[in-house]
Amino acid sequence: MIKLNVWGGAGEHGRSAYLLSGDRFHILMDCGVKKEGAGEYPLIEPDIVSNLDAVLLSHAHEDHSVAIPLLYKMGYQGEVWTTRETREQLDTYFRAWSSNMERAGHGLPYEETDVQSIRYRYLENEAKAGIWFEVVSGINVLWGRSGHLAGSVWFALEMEGKRIFYSGDYTSESMLLQEDCAAEALRLASVFRSRERTGSRVNNPLLSQGMAASDGIQLTGGPLAEAAMATVSSGLSASLSPSLIKGRLNRPMDLAIVDAAYGTDRDTQTDKLAHLGHAIRRTIARGGKVLLPMPSVGRGQEIILWAHEQFQGVPMIVEQGLVDGMKQLMRVPYWLREKGDRLKSPLMDVIERFLGGKSWHLPQSREDRERLLNQHAASLWFIPDGMMQSSLARWYYNQLADREENLILLTGHAAVGTFAQKLIQNPAEYGVCEVQKIRYKVHQGWLDVEKMLQRVPARHTVLVHADKAETDRLREILVGNSPTPEVMIHSLSPGDELYV
Ligand SMILES: [Zn+2]
Ligand SMILES: [Zn+2]
Repeated sequence: MIKLNVWGGAGEHGRSAYLLSGDRFHILMDCGVKKEGAGEYPLIEPDIVSNLDAVLLSHAHEDHSVAIPLLYKMGYQGEVWTTRETREQLDTYFRAWSSNMERAGHGLPYEETDVQSIRYRYLENEAKAGIWFEVVSGINVLWGRSGHLAGSVWFALEMEGKRIFYSGDYTSESMLLQEDCAAEALRLASVFRSRERTGSRVNNPLLSQGMAASDGIQLTGGPLAEAAMATVSSGLSASLSPSLIKGRLNRPMDLAIVDAAYGTDRDTQTDKLAHLGHAIRRTIARGGKVLLPMPSVGRGQEIILWAHEQFQGVPMIVEQGLVDGMKQLMRVPYWLREKGDRLKSPLMDVIERFLGGKSWHLPQSREDRERLLNQHAASLWFIPDGMMQSSLARWYYNQLADREENLILLTGHAAVGTFAQKLIQNPAEYGVCEVQKIRYKVHQGWLDVEKMLQRVPARHTVLVHADKAETDRLREILVGNSPTPEVMIHSLSPGDELYV
């Protein structure tokens, strides 16, 4: 029997931390913070910490990563397994958290030396996406790209005879980022394994080299046949036919922890982009400016490239932080889609063309900003800080707030207490401009979760990353639609435990 302890992240947005305990092993998946007040940290059980066998980290966002130093402060001496790209991004998130807290007059529960103590291990060094490997003796792990952020992954785990799936933050609808379909990956991996076991396949170069060879399974996220063909062409197994793969169903998971951040929202990314496009066009038509505050890395780059294609001829201003985020994408081709669905050319070309182009403005100083604001009526303004806490975001807001034709367009999560959240709740208190929230999807909503339940079936599925009331509503709908009553769907809260 395996016990799941929710240290945070279920029934709330933030501080994701899921502990799996068996007779012999303790594994922690993610250890983040919640951006509220003095910062809320996971409900870590101190006695467990020094007995943890491994920590798996899905991606760099602070709600998954920033409480990891606390584990080291509490005596953890083991390793944190993640991707190289996530590791590259982490220092920025640790620094941002520390300075945010400092600015708000709060301390951190750990020191800089705890951050320095983290011992990273890189998933890619052990096995490419879609290949099982042993993370500690007795525990097998398989990972794949989750489409949420460069470096972000989902995990499958085998531990004491149980199989566990953790989606991390997941979307298959990113315009830029590639996702490895978990169902396809698991199916392919099980085919290789069963062939290995029966001895019918011994010339697989990866398996014979301890699964750490240079060429992994090419998971395209496309149709099954495509994935199989890519595998064939990579020389992994010339006799692996699509029909063989299709013929093998995945053994159900014992537990799946699934990103359901958007709760009962049924919209697809196409719906969201239609809403975004409509709101922008309406504002442009009345001669207004659109302010789009975004996190420096993530959906900002997707929306900038999309808007650049959609609103040609409309003046576009992009602040440095977001341009830097765009440049970062250039050095991580592995995490990008080869060709965007909604963008016409290969992504690297699109990004390169954007960065090299003269079709948008990059303000360098207060004077530049003021000049551009005076020069352009209808225009698009992409600025860093989706929660609008920074002085730059507040400055921009003040420049636009006194004109009704302007629109502040928020596209992501705004934590309680942030200016973005206050603005959404009570726009008239701060100015006369219009304020709208239209989500750009970087997580899963109702239909995505439903698809995941079908494709990665599990005896127990825990819905996470949304508040309790919304998770309850989604659970009720999914249970009502479920054709298999023996499948349990759970809406849990921090502090809860579940035996599987
Ligand atoms: Zn995230
Ligand atoms: Zn998250």
